[in-house]
Amino acid sequence: MKPFDIWVSFIVSLITNMIVLSGTIAFLYWLEELPNPRVKRVKPLIEIALSTLYFIYLWGQSWLSSGIAANAFGLHWTFLNMIIVSMFLIDVYLDIWLEVIIEATLMLLYVLFFTPALPLYTAIYYVAFVAVLVACYHRGKLLLRHTALMYLALGVLGFITLALISCLFGVPTDPYFWIRQITALVILSIVGIEYTLSSSRLLKRNAQANKMANRDGLTLLDNFSKFDKDLAEAHEQFRVDRKPYAIFELDIDLFKQVNDNYGHLVGNTVLKAIAQELAQFAVSSPYPANAYRIGGEEFCLIIHADFSDSDAAFKVADQIRQRISQLSFSIGTSTINVTASVGQANSRLDHYDAHDVYKMADRSLYLSKQHGRNRVTLEGNTIMGAN
Ligand code: GH3
Ligand code: MG
Ligand code: MG
Repeated sequence: MKPFDIWVSFIVSLITNMIVLSGTIAFLYWLEELPNPRVKRVKPLIEIALSTLYFIYLWGQSWLSSGIAANAFGLHWTFLNMIIVSMFLIDVYLDIWLEVIIEATLMLLYVLFFTPALPLYTAIYYVAFVAVLVACYHRGKLLLRHTALMYLALGVLGFITLALISCLFGVPTDPYFWIRQITALVILSIVGIEYTLSSSRLLKRNAQANKMANRDGLTLLDNFSKFDKDLAEAHEQFRVDRKPYAIFELDIDLFKQVNDNYGHLVGNTVLKAIAQELAQFAVSSPYPANAYRIGGEEFCLIIHADFSDSDAAFKVADQIRQRISQLSFSIGTSTINVTASVGQANSRLDHYDAHDVYKMADRSLYLSKQHGRNRVTLEGNTIMGAN
C-alpha cells in the first residue's frame, strides 16, 4: 500500500470509529432514559446483552481483519482503539460487574488464540490489563466526577492494552504506525469521554428538573401532581398486593384571616412552618409516609399502614392536628396560632379507585369544618371534638 493510501484509509477508519462510538454512547443514554417502567426493570439484562453483542462485533471484526491485513487488528489496529475506549466507557458507566468479566474473558480468548503458550510478559500485561479494568469499575463514580481522572485511567488502560497487543504481534515496521495509533486513540478518547460526560450532565439536569416539577416552590414539599401519582401507585399496590394505606388531609382553619391581619408574607412563613412540621411528622412516623402541599393552605399525608382500626387512625390524625395547633409565631408584639381541620380515609376494597379514597378524605375534611373546625373526621362518620 502506498503511504498516501495508508493515510487516507487511516482517516476514513478513524471517522467511521468516531461515528460508531458516538452512536454507541447515544444508545447507552437512550437505555438509561427508558420511559417504560416494565422495560426499566430488565434494563441491566438488556444492557449486558447489547454491550456483549457489541463487543463480540468489535472483536469479530478485528479477528476478521487479522486474516486480511498484516496486523492483527487490521491495517491501523483500528478496532483495538474502539475496543479500548468502549471497554472503558461501558466498564465505568454501566456499573455492571458481569461486563468486567465479559471484557476480560474476550481479551483472554483473543490473546490465547494468537499465543496459546502465553509467554511471561504477555501474561503480566494481561494481568495488569484486568487489574486496571477492575479498578476502573470500582472507582467508576469517582472517575465520572473528575474529567482529568477519566483521561488518566483511559490513558493507563490504553497503554497497557497496546503493550499487550504488541507482545502478540510485535511492533510494526511502518515508522508512522505509532503516530497514527496514538493520534486515533487520543481523538477517540476525547470523543468518548466528552460525549459521555456531557450526556451524563444532561441526564442529571433532567432528573433535577423532574424533581422540581414534583415539588412545591414555597414549602418544598411534594406538590399535588406528585400526590396524584403516589396515590395512584399506593392504590395499585393495595389492589394487587393488599398493602393498605390511608390519606390524612388537612386544611388550615380561617387562614385568610392570617393573611388579612398580618399580610401575605407572614402567611407564607406560617405555611412553610406547617410544611416543615408535617415533613418531620412523616419522617418520624413508624410507617412509610410522605407529606404533600396539595393546594393553597391544604396539605395531605399518605401513610402506608392499616388504619382500619379507628383508634389507630384517630391517634395519628389527632397528633397531626395537635402539632399544628402547638406551633406559634411571634410577629412584632403579637403571637399567631393556627389550627387545622383533618379528614381521613382508608384504602378499602369497595372503593373503586384512588380518587374515591381521596374524595372520602375530602368529605371528611369538609365535615370537620362543618362541625366547628380544629377537629378530626375519620372515614366521613366519626367526628371527634377538639381538645
Ligand atoms: P377555612 O377554615 O374555611 O378553610 O377558612 P380559610 O380562610 O382557611 O379558607 P379560604 O378558602 O377562605 O382561604 C384560604 C386562604 O389561603 C386564602 C388564600 O389567600 C390563602 N392562601 C392560599 N395560598 C396561599 C399562599 O401561598 N400564601 C399565603 N400567604 N396565603 C395563601
Ligand atoms: Mg382553610
Ligand atoms: Mg382551603
